[in-house]
Amino acid sequence: MTIALDRYIADMIILHEVCHLIYANHADEFWNLMSALMPDIEERKKILKKVTQNIDFRNFYS
Ligand SMILES: [Zn+2]
Repeated sequence: MTIALDRYIADMIILHEVCHLIYANHADEFWNLMSALMPDIEERKKILKKVTQNIDFRNFYS
């Protein structure tokens, strides 16, 4: 299965993983760091949710 993502969204996912090098969780400090580095994070999260809402992830790794 291949998912093509716009660079705008891909950058958010990459930053998410980089922030996990500092915080290995999703606590408030993690999201505060994400927001500080990417002020429009909430808008990007909304877009990601919208474009993935109809994807069936049950067979994602098969
Ligand atoms: Zn995470």
